Amino acid sequence: MREFELLGHVYEASQSLGESIIIPPGDDMAMLELDTPRLLAAVDQLVDGVHVQLATTPIEAVGRKAVTRCLSDVAAMAALPVATLVAVVLPVDFDEPTTKTLFDAMRETAEQYSCPLIGGDIAFHKKKTGPFTCSVTALATPRAGRVLQRSGAHVGDSVYVTGTLGGSVKPDGSGRHLAFEPRIDEALELLDRLGERVHSMIDLSDGLGRDAGHIAEQSDVCIEIWAEDIPVTPGCDWRSGLGDGEDYELCFTAVGNVPDMLGQVPVTRIGQVVEVARHGDDRPEGRVWVRVDGDWQRVDTFGWEHGTK
Ligand SMILES: [Mg+2]
Repeated sequence: MREFELLGHVYEASQSLGESIIIPPGDDMAMLELDTPRLLAAVDQLVDGVHVQLATTPIEAVGRKAVTRCLSDVAAMAALPVATLVAVVLPVDFDEPTTKTLFDAMRETAEQYSCPLIGGDIAFHKKKTGPFTCSVTALATPRAGRVLQRSGAHVGDSVYVTGTLGGSVKPDGSGRHLAFEPRIDEALELLDRLGERVHSMIDLSDGLGRDAGHIAEQSDVCIEIWAEDIPVTPGCDWRSGLGDGEDYELCFTAVGNVPDMLGQVPVTRIGQVVEVARHGDDRPEGRVWVRVDGDWQRVDTFGWEHGTK
């Protein structure tokens, strides 16, 4: 199979590139026409044995997750998706039908979220041991000039999450981490409805404890979470909700009234933003704590730390 032919097949099948694509994929570069001078960009990798288990996961689900993981970052900024680019390195024994199915799944998923695939690259490992690696880049634009960052949380904000948390990856490798919906529409609705009252946001990939820690660190605040208020997936406890990761829900901080639902997705208040702990405070070290039966536990070290798991 030749890369050129495969990518030709992928691009031919493209249904809706959208009006912003001035030069479609197939040339040396694609070209976009945007109505804003500001562009957001993010890249995300899916590696066999690290983020996905290829032996036990349908290849369509692998392709879908490669794209939705990146689109969850677009949601985290409350940005509008524009386009996707993909680069894969495949094991030597990866056959042509599987490769086509993979790329079809990525193209269809990207189109589903109005973020069409406008470029791709395929390489093969020469050694048998080289793992499947898929890198996806997403481009997005700010809506009405504003995006939500991790660094905007204020003391006095309440902390919210969408959906339910915990148990996303089942022991056999299946689960919601392969089928989640990036919360792009919900994030845009949030920004529309709350305007300046929503201050910071992140998507929950590493686990609520650790991801809330990113907001706390970058905003130079601390966060208190109430264990009994974490909306956990049936069968999970608050520890799973805080530490399992791969929920791909949104966590945001805001003041004033916040709707109970964004689209069809429930929103739950789980805590508050507080000042950085002062010397002599009775809480443990760290920036994020959970209150369980009146006691505080540090949780910004819960969850997935890249390179250690
Ligand atoms: Mg993220």
